[in-house]
Amino acid sequence: MIAAHLSEEEIQQYALDKKGSAPHLIAHMETCVDCQAKLQTYTQLFEAIRVQEKPTFDFDLSGLLMPQLAKPKFAFNDFLVYFTVFLMGSSTIVAAFAFRKYLANIFTGVMPMFIYLILLTGLAVIVFQAAELFRKYQKQISALN
Ligand SMILES: [Zn+2]
Repeated sequence: MIAAHLSEEEIQQYALDKKGSAPHLIAHMETCVDCQAKLQTYTQLFEAIRVQEKPTFDFDLSGLLMPQLAKPKFAFNDFLVYFTVFLMGSSTIVAAFAFRKYLANIFTGVMPMFIYLILLTGLAVIVFQAAELFRKYQKQISALN
């Protein structure tokens, strides 16, 4: 048994979950008048917090937010991104068509192990990007709720 009084955290823990407290804390709490007084204060505080009405919006939050999320406005940045992707894709196709007779021999000079390394790196980057995107999505959804 320890002689010192319980800390504020220990008393709060005891008030919230008596059975989860360590046996020596329970023994001290049952004998010490000072700690019992603090416990009573915390118990009243926690009870007052518990009986308080949970704050709610007096308007329909999801009803207001969802239409804005569903149809995004036209953004010039999005257009720029799509245009750049289109430009890159079309120039790649044009280049592939222009150099089509060399394409068949493009990987013959490269070691197979090197090709696997490139593919593995690309796959790893895609997996990490997808995981990051999913984590960000989950965070935003939980922030909404
Ligand atoms: Zn005490």
